[in-house]
Amino acid sequence: MIVERNVPLQPLNSFGIAARAAVLVRVRGEADVRAVRADAELGAQPTFVLGGGSNIVLTGDVKPVVLKVEVPGRRVVGETARHVIVEAGAGENWHDFVTWTLDQGLPGLENLALIPGTVGASPVQNIGAYGVELQDRFHELDAIDLLTGEVFTLGAAQCGFGYRDSVFKRAAAAPGDLGLAGRALILRVRFALPKDWQPVLGYLDIERRMEEEGVAHPSARQLYDWIVAIRRAKLPDPAVIGNAGSFFKNPTVTP
Ligand SMILES: Cc1cc2nc3c(=O)[nH]c(=O)nc-3n(C[C@H](O)[C@H](O)[C@H](O)COP(=O)(O)OP(=O)(O)OC[C@H]3O[C@@H](n4cnc5c(N)ncnc54)[C@H](O)[C@@H]3O)c2cc1C
Repeated sequence: MIVERNVPLQPLNSFGIAARAAVLVRVRGEADVRAVRADAELGAQPTFVLGGGSNIVLTGDVKPVVLKVEVPGRRVVGETARHVIVEAGAGENWHDFVTWTLDQGLPGLENLALIPGTVGASPVQNIGAYGVELQDRFHELDAIDLLTGEVFTLGAAQCGFGYRDSVFKRAAAAPGDLGLAGRALILRVRFALPKDWQPVLGYLDIERRMEEEGVAHPSARQLYDWIVAIRRAKLPDPAVIGNAGSFFKNPTVTP
């Protein structure tokens, strides 16, 4: 376990807010989390899990022990009759992972291209864009309980996905509730990518591109390229203007 002290967090959050972590531990696997728990000094302190820092607003120096998630790895782990199962370490960059799946000839995540952040944070708010949400492609995940050090696996039903919501954002309201806010560090996520892939269309921006380029049936790579271009044109690049994405959710209206 490598423990860093008085670490500047400015390069580790997309807003570029200047703040410091009293202690930061880079987590490359469950052993690092267990080492923190077993440490006489750190084990008793509260923790804060940090991915790519693209969905947080720091309001000052961070006193809890920062667990910077850097679990690596991406691989095809199996298949079912209808899906190919791929796994990525929580520290992998989300967009690089999406690009890698397409490079493997495995479509399904293209509508989620260019969302900043890490794979490990993607289930936390059930990331979504252009008609696809993480839950549509989710298989299961491995996480470690920050209190007990136990590693456990959750399927979609147990993750309680909702619109930009999951069990990882909810505190347990009553004994027996599976509220995991502040309690779980996601280590690896597995995705079920459809063998019988169909493009998810229906967004005005995408329909415009289809019309402009005279393409009625875009490939996954074509959709990916369009979505990357649309996002680059619409959203400020955090590397140029610090930001943490949208502060707002779309309103949900009844039919
Ligand atoms: C320009 C811009 C555009 C964006 N567009 C979209 C969009 O289209 N759709 C969308 O859904 N979101 C969007 N976002 C939000 C952001 O990309 C997502 O919320 C992303 O999943 C955050 O990932 P991160 O690794 O940066 O998480 P962080 O900001 O580091 O963390 C976010 C939360 O997740 C927790 N967390 C992080 N990693 C783990 C882990 N391994 N285990 C447990 N908890 C963890 C943290 O404790 C924190 O509470 C956008 C953000 C920006 C800046």
